[in-house]
Amino acid sequence: MDNIAENIERVNALLLDNVSLVAVSKTKPMLYIEQAYQAGQRLFGENKALEMREKYYALPKDIEWHFIGHLQTNKIKYIAPFVALIHSIDSLDLLEEVNKYAKKNNRIIPCLLQIYIAKEETKYGLLPIEAEEIFKSKSYLQLENIKICGLMGMATNTENSEQIRTEFAMLKSYFDRIKIEYFKDEKSFKEISMGMTDDYGIAIEEGSTMVRVGSGIFGSRIYL
Ligand SMILES: *Cc1c(COP(=O)(O)O)cnc(C)c1O
Repeated sequence: MDNIAENIERVNALLLDNVSLVAVSKTKPMLYIEQAYQAGQRLFGENKALEMREKYYALPKDIEWHFIGHLQTNKIKYIAPFVALIHSIDSLDLLEEVNKYAKKNNRIIPCLLQIYIAKEETKYGLLPIEAEEIFKSKSYLQLENIKICGLMGMATNTENSEQIRTEFAMLKSYFDRIKIEYFKDEKSFKEISMGMTDDYGIAIEEGSTMVRVGSGIFGSRIYL
């Protein structure tokens, strides 16, 4: 655990200026997060709403909490008061529900659309055409309490780095196209959340603006 500060420093040294680091603390105890916080880390990623809420209440209030997992609509209420960015919007229905709870909390919640780029059946996400259908829909235009700030994607879990690179490059090109088509004058549409412990180097080379690193900072996760 004493490596946490060192690990953060090592990852930060590899990031370009415009890339931010989300330290993925899911399943990890508060103590680990406090260590990272002491080392200057302020962005943390969680994938369970209740776990995130518990940590939010216990830990310093200048932490930015990023939700990175599959979000069930009945759990939005737990994170809506404070979540800094939801990386994993994968349907218009979910976006509408987030908007509803954002409104109840009198805030605008920044969101990314999760785009399906992997060659694996198991990962959540939208096809690019489905993302465009959202931007074209009438109901999307009425959502005043969410802001779409970019896209997120996860590459295939493979040793084949060329395949990973191709998938990240694909996400970058979707981002560029969607930006031109739908967000031309919106400075806030700027994030490409891609890259995890095993592939963040490639992701940065392919244009990532936000990497989500868990085991590379906190050690491997044990699921009981
Ligand atoms: C767990 C998780 C990560 C971090 O994974 P590591 O391989 O431990 O870096 C990143 N993104 C998402 C969506 C995750 O669920």
